[in-house]
Amino acid sequence: MILPIIAYGDPVLRKEGEDISADYPNLKALIANMYETMYDAFGVGLAAPQVGLAIRLFVVDTTPFSEDEDLTKEEQAQLQGFKRTFINAKIIEETGDEWAFNEGCLSIPDVREDVFRKPKIKIEYQDEDFNTHVEEFDGLVARVIQHEYDHIDGILFTDKLSTLKKRLIKGRLSNISKGNISVDYKMRFPALKKKR
Ligand SMILES: [Zn+2]
Repeated sequence: MILPIIAYGDPVLRKEGEDISADYPNLKALIANMYETMYDAFGVGLAAPQVGLAIRLFVVDTTPFSEDEDLTKEEQAQLQGFKRTFINAKIIEETGDEWAFNEGCLSIPDVREDVFRKPKIKIEYQDEDFNTHVEEFDGLVARVIQHEYDHIDGILFTDKLSTLKKRLIKGRLSNISKGNISVDYKMRFPALKKKR
């Protein structure tokens, strides 16, 4: 089932997500719905707060990035088929020199800006069967995980921009929260929600 994606401005995107346990209601269905919602919107990652739930869960599938011809064969292979569910994730460390990548977000349509992040991460998380993993990722895979991980801490990529950039996109963010935008996937806008 395709779920509406929560737009910028909704307080749920600002909440710190809570850990969940294996008996979280209808978890398997929720995860399946999150993948379906992400694919429908041509995203590479989706976090639970983006479907209205302040819990520490996000899904990633970087396959669409693997078609970028500017990447090396090795990078393409790393991205192809990298599909992973992260539950109760904790980034243990981030290392290396920060690099810029032009990020976007399904909750913030049509806004894309360069964001600086460290290239390597070490992360502990549980998979869909609640097995614990500690893994290291780098490059674009790490980038997508860092972006989604921020969501479960209530952080958006626009928070990481310079004061000047923030000022420049302020009007567009305000329009998104008011629903003054056309998107080709299902969304829920905070300003419209209040109207009955
Ligand atoms: Zn996002």
